[in-house]
Amino acid sequence: MTKRTVLVTGGARGIGKGIARAFLLANHKVMIADLGADAGGSNTWNYNLASSSAMRETVEELAEFGEIACVALDVTNKLSCDNAVAVTCETFGGLDVLANNAGIVASGPIEDFSEADWDSIFDVNVKGIYNMTRAALGALKTSSNAAIVNTASIAGKKGSANLAAYCASKFAVVGLTQSLALEFAPHGIRVNALCPGIVGTAMWLDHLMANQGEAAFEERMHQLVPMGRPQTEQDMGEAAVYLASSPNVTGVSLAVAGGLEMN
Ligand code: NAD
Repeated sequence: MTKRTVLVTGGARGIGKGIARAFLLANHKVMIADLGADAGGSNTWNYNLASSSAMRETVEELAEFGEIACVALDVTNKLSCDNAVAVTCETFGGLDVLANNAGIVASGPIEDFSEADWDSIFDVNVKGIYNMTRAALGALKTSSNAAIVNTASIAGKKGSANLAAYCASKFAVVGLTQSLALEFAPHGIRVNALCPGIVGTAMWLDHLMANQGEAAFEERMHQLVPMGRPQTEQDMGEAAVYLASSPNVTGVSLAVAGGLEMN
């Protein structure tokens, strides 16, 4: 595969780290971008988000697989998005693939769900993609093999009780993906969404199933998921590489969920 440059938001850990690793293994150059002290953003949320040191440690860990660097980013801040794209282009000479992966979750009944949490979820999960896409578009238009991969969710295909804000935000990501796929097709830029099922990252272990431990998580997924196991960061990375590389696939929202969601 031709060597391309990939920018992965929320790349310090979890699914973003899996996406970064998979692109490196596919012979691409990778910039991971995540919250950090320099981004001007806050990593205070219902559970801890990634720190600058987590991002640096990921770069050190993945460096054995290829060329990787990092930049501090807050996707809710337009200037920070412009800066992340500029640093990527300066470091690697261009940008070919944008992986809009940063995201946050909060759960609870709608009557107790704060307006601040609602706004934060939409700011990161939806407006973050708007900001990053606009920041990257100029560079992507100059690439001969450009693609955008948005991390949506199976929560963007089917509603869930006590997850209204998160599901609504991920349905928005699917709509954004389809609309931008049509809008950017004349430029040869493909736009697809990755819809993870259930991956044992901070979202699950520190929030949705907080304090229950990994063994309880694995056992619940064994019962819940038709294929009998949770999905992995590696599963997500491989699917993201496919979506960014298959030349005639655009506008797709691909569930990678072990049969938990098929639509
Ligand atoms: P995670 O919390 O480990 O990773 C999310 C990353 O996004 C963190 O590194 C965090 O610091 C970063 N981030 C948050 N706000 C940011 C901001 N304003 N600017 C830049 N970076 C920011 O969780 P994850 O499970 O790896 O989530 C990655 C993506 O996958 C999210 O979009 C999430 O909604 C989606 N997803 C996860 C699951 C799952 O089961 N874990 C399922 C479906 C979809």
